[in-house]
Amino acid sequence: MRDLCLLSVGEMLGGMAAGEFTSQDLTQACLARMAALEPQIHAFLFIDADGAVNAARAADARRAAWRMGDDSLPPLLGLPIAVKDVLMVQGMPCTCGSKILEGFIAPYTATPVQRLLDAGVVIVGKTNTDEFAMGSSTENSAYGPTRNPWNTAHVPGGSSGGSAAAVAARMVPAALGTDTGGSVRQPASFCGVSGIKPSYGRVSRYGLVAYGSSLDSVGVLARSAEDAALVFQHMAGQDAMDATSSDLQVPSYTASLPQNLSGLRIGVPKEYFIDGMQPAVEQRVREAIAQMEALGAQVAEISLPYTSYAVPVYYLIAPAEASANLARFDGIRYGPRETGENLLDVYHHTRGGCFGSEVKRRIMLGTYALSAGYYDAYYGQAQKVRTLMKRDYDKAFEIVDVIAAPVAPTTALRFGQHTDDPLAMYLEDVFTLPANLAGVPGLAFPVGFDTAGLPVGMQLMAKPFNEALLFQTARVFQAQTDWHRRMPEQGG
Ligand code: GLN
Repeated sequence: MRDLCLLSVGEMLGGMAAGEFTSQDLTQACLARMAALEPQIHAFLFIDADGAVNAARAADARRAAWRMGDDSLPPLLGLPIAVKDVLMVQGMPCTCGSKILEGFIAPYTATPVQRLLDAGVVIVGKTNTDEFAMGSSTENSAYGPTRNPWNTAHVPGGSSGGSAAAVAARMVPAALGTDTGGSVRQPASFCGVSGIKPSYGRVSRYGLVAYGSSLDSVGVLARSAEDAALVFQHMAGQDAMDATSSDLQVPSYTASLPQNLSGLRIGVPKEYFIDGMQPAVEQRVREAIAQMEALGAQVAEISLPYTSYAVPVYYLIAPAEASANLARFDGIRYGPRETGENLLDVYHHTRGGCFGSEVKRRIMLGTYALSAGYYDAYYGQAQKVRTLMKRDYDKAFEIVDVIAAPVAPTTALRFGQHTDDPLAMYLEDVFTLPANLAGVPGLAFPVGFDTAGLPVGMQLMAKPFNEALLFQTARVFQAQTDWHRRMPEQGG
């Protein structure tokens, strides 16, 4: 019998529509694969097997009751997906990978998740993440790291490492992630899957536990750009509950494809190929760009001169915003509460005992950067440089349609490689942070392997709100290549 877990999103939806299998068959297949692989991978913090089977049964009943002439069925009816554990799903735990939210049950559902539920998806569970999405490896999860399905001695990337590993191991066809500084694209790259980080404001942040509010975005990881587009289509759009969500219309992300890339202007920023990056990463990315050129694109080197400021600017702004956002976790309103002599003691004991060391480091950095006397020198200055970085992108998009670049300077790190050196870990984010600082969309997808057999990813970036061009370009590339079809033996 064919393994339903290996089908694409389109094939899953088509197979259910044609009556070849039911959502219950599909959901059970995913749950069985999760049960088999989770002991090695640990992609999930919560698995809702009963809830998923019930939702699948309801989806099947809805399909069976459907008659010609009725309103059309929800577009993703019966499709199993997973959700990163920083997005709330009413009635399910939401820990954000932190002890400070242990036992917290979400009282409402995040808008992007609700839209997918309205579109018919079945949620199988919540995926692992670095604590409050702060990290690049899942090693900062309070509930233990996720392992990379390609090689379990390596991290899956982060912070959406659980979602990336679950998709790479074919436990689910798609999973939601969030990207504040690379957390969709970098784990997608490390795990050999495709991931969309939308423009700031394209997807509502309502119900996402805030990390850096001016940088946060909600995206999708899937096995191909097409699969990601099919899901992303139903998350995007304005939401009255998020004033920063854009009222721009959502175009079709799965429109019919051109035969090639003729006429597409691709810019390759020279600042994204740096000394010390892994040679295989540069080689695979340059090969993929050459292939796009062979498909008709015009390729030119460009410059984004402020790229080298991304790490210092991001690591001031993101912790500053985090220090304000995380003030609400005080032991009074959510999660566990430690005892103390007085209220201040309760705060100290709860926050001191329940936050992990990376989160504390960020809160201290951010509080310092925002404090009286330092605000202008640190936070204010970082905001000014951020504006200059945004201008780099505005200028580049006057002469090119998309920017092509590596996602990370290396393939998946080994466990513990940077755990004692936070700065080395921050430097790993050098290629992903700029898109968040500039608010532009980015799509990561696999373009080959290094000598150790670990996946290499590249990213395409476009003007704000031009996700459609990213999906189209990656789909044309994937129609001609098969990197996105390779799967780890672990997941085989
Ligand atoms: N690695 C970056 C950080 O630690 C980005 C994380 C993210 O995008 N959530 O902040």
